[in-house]
Amino acid sequence: MADKHHKEERTFVIIKPDGVQRSLIGEVIKRYEKIGLKLVGLKMGVTTPDMVEKHYTLDPEWMRKTGEKTIANYKKKGQEPPSEDPLEITKVVLESLKRYITSGPVIMMVWQGAHAVGIVRKLTGATEPLSSDVGTIRGDFVLDSYVMSDVAGRAVRNILHASGTVEEAEDEIKLWFKEDELINYRLIQEAILYDVDLDGILE
Ligand code: ADP
Ligand code: MG
Repeated sequence: MADKHHKEERTFVIIKPDGVQRSLIGEVIKRYEKIGLKLVGLKMGVTTPDMVEKHYTLDPEWMRKTGEKTIANYKKKGQEPPSEDPLEITKVVLESLKRYITSGPVIMMVWQGAHAVGIVRKLTGATEPLSSDVGTIRGDFVLDSYVMSDVAGRAVRNILHASGTVEEAEDEIKLWFKEDELINYRLIQEAILYDVDLDGILE
């Protein structure tokens, strides 16, 4: 990213099948759009278990980190995690994710703009909807929890996937989009977001 302007940062988002079924496509797009990000790639499709596995294993550390996050979340609430071994937890989560994300159509999107990765994560909210802040998409539109998903033996339903880091975003965009499916264009509002001098407004 060092040689790129801030406004060139890109992130990858999936509206998961529950988001599509809850009729939240417009709501999600509205929130990312209103903050000033630019939509540069968009498609709808039904994905495969193989793609879901590839997606979540792009980062070799994802299994460990997600397991650790789950354990910490249980402990913070004074609850017993299903296992003390992060990898054991994520092995089960990955299988559940394959069923979840292939269960219906999904929307795949690439959003671009300054701090796109961090801004989209902030608007999306924390992984477990029970703990996501009010005002975030997950905090406002879904009531799931690890306790509920564990009892049912399924993945936690939280409407969205959003890349966690710039590197993760770059790998995920390459996995889900071909170069010619991404559109380079100027959005008029970028002048007010990024231009150094705001000349040309007053007549
Ligand atoms: P995020 O989507 O917020 O980046 P992770 O990358 O840690 O979260 O996990 C990917 C997805 O796996 C989550 O969005 C959620 O759907 C599911 N998930 C993560 N941890 C668990 C868990 N402990 N139990 C059930 N599902 C989980
Ligand atoms: Mg993640």
